[in-house]
Amino acid sequence: MKILHYPHPALRVKARPVTILDADIQKAAYEMLETMYRYEGLGLAAPQVGLDFQLLVMNFAGDPARKEMEHIAINPVIVETKGGTVSDREGCLSFPGLYQNVRRFKTVRVQAYNLKGEKYEMECHDLPARVWQHEIDHLAGTLFIDRMGSLGLQRSQKDLEKFIAEFEKAKKKGDLPAGLEAKL
Ligand SMILES: [Zn+2]
Repeated sequence: MKILHYPHPALRVKARPVTILDADIQKAAYEMLETMYRYEGLGLAAPQVGLDFQLLVMNFAGDPARKEMEHIAINPVIVETKGGTVSDREGCLSFPGLYQNVRRFKTVRVQAYNLKGEKYEMECHDLPARVWQHEIDHLAGTLFIDRMGSLGLQRSQKDLEKFIAEFEKAKKKGDLPAGLEAKL
């Protein structure tokens, strides 16, 4: 699996809910976990690998050995937020090397389905809550640059211009990940 970088249009697609939990979804989830660990991320959303359904994988410790920190979420929703907001440094595998402060809710209660189709609910604080919010945003086509505020965005300008230049270069060479060219 290849991670799509900004400004790939697949990152702006609204992912559709999963209605049938088949082998394809399971395979996608395991491949996404592998990809996330390979790039040392804490979370990865299906649109980041060009899949347009509501699937996330996360590991709040970023450590494949710590399975208790690993979560797979199908059709996730935030059902409650608590404790106000807090600003902290955040990155994204679709923006390699870019880190900025982003304001997020300190505590979230989320609901999702696991790979067995069982519904689960969990309450998270701080970093895990941040990861959930960041990844669920991806499913709506929302990126962390949309949450930075004008100062953070200004500070990111050089990086964003670099990403756009790289994208245009790859597009010209016909080097964009296969199967997604039709969406450009
Ligand atoms: Zn991201």
